[in-house]
Amino acid sequence: MMMSPVEFFKTLPAKQCPECGQPIEEQAESYMMECEHCLSKKEE
Ligand SMILES: [Zn+2]
Repeated sequence: MMMSPVEFFKTLPAKQCPECGQPIEEQAESYMMECEHCLSKKEE
């Protein structure tokens, strides 16, 4: 079943961090998949 991108994003649940399961606050320019906490852990 094909969905238009708009429909697809409407049906998305709140973004969740795959690492810790925390809900991620959407930011307009953000394409991060993980929460700040997990991202900062990964930064080297
Ligand atoms: Zn996380």
